[in-house]
Amino acid sequence: MRDSACFSALLLLLVVGCEAPEAPDPPPPLSEQLAQAQWIELTHPLNEETLVWPTSIPFEFEVTFQGMTDDGYYYASRNFSGPEHGGTHLDAPIHFAEDRWTTEQIPLERLVGPGAVVDVSQQAAADPNYQVTADDLQAWEAEHGPIPPGAILMLHTGRSELWPDAQAYMGTDAQGEEAVAELEFPGLHPDAAQWLVDERAIAAVGLDTPSLDHGPSTLFETHRILMAENIYGLENVANLSALPATGATILALPPLLEGGTGGPVRIVAVVDGAGAP
Ligand SMILES: [Zn+2]
Repeated sequence: MRDSACFSALLLLLVVGCEAPEAPDPPPPLSEQLAQAQWIELTHPLNEETLVWPTSIPFEFEVTFQGMTDDGYYYASRNFSGPEHGGTHLDAPIHFAEDRWTTEQIPLERLVGPGAVVDVSQQAAADPNYQVTADDLQAWEAEHGPIPPGAILMLHTGRSELWPDAQAYMGTDAQGEEAVAELEFPGLHPDAAQWLVDERAIAAVGLDTPSLDHGPSTLFETHRILMAENIYGLENVANLSALPATGATILALPPLLEGGTGGPVRIVAVVDGAGAP
């Protein structure tokens, strides 16, 4: 009896011990994941207060009709006009690199990607013309891992809180060629852009200032380095403080402006409901 009890116990152990590890549950369907996800707006609204480059035309809106028609139904319609590079907008690679992608040529899969959000708001608070360095990017990587391939790299300088106060946000509220010399805001250092091109495989760089190159730039080297590699830009991005450093998926969808050098863009992020900051 005793032997048989031992044998049974051994058998039980063997059965339990050899049981195949439980297969992980398959992920829920995408529609279910999206229903539980949190959406984050990263776009400034387009209106008559929208900030544009000093040499640019403003955004304008004209009501063409609003009210009851003679036939007894309500109807409203407007015209709008504005620059490709104003408000929250995309810089297509052709903006600074001949023969590179125009707005409609950027592949759709490049307009959706993992967000990597680098907070440089302390550095930018200390220096209004701060240039984000490769050291800043590497310090971020030491904490969060390598910037993933296809990433939409976002530089959070803290400037979007100053929108739409042109003087505070970009150093001047004047218009015209002379005002360009007064521009003051942070950007990405050309050496850091070169490091990204050489060492990583990002899709885009975005930031919450009017330009990838900092305010005093006259040669726009960061634009030129990135765009020669078909890396597009996102400028005047809003609300980056609401994003986690990693884990967000960012979507940046401009209208398909044929031959466009950029264009207004709606940028949103989607994060796992449980992982929301
Ligand atoms: Zn631009």
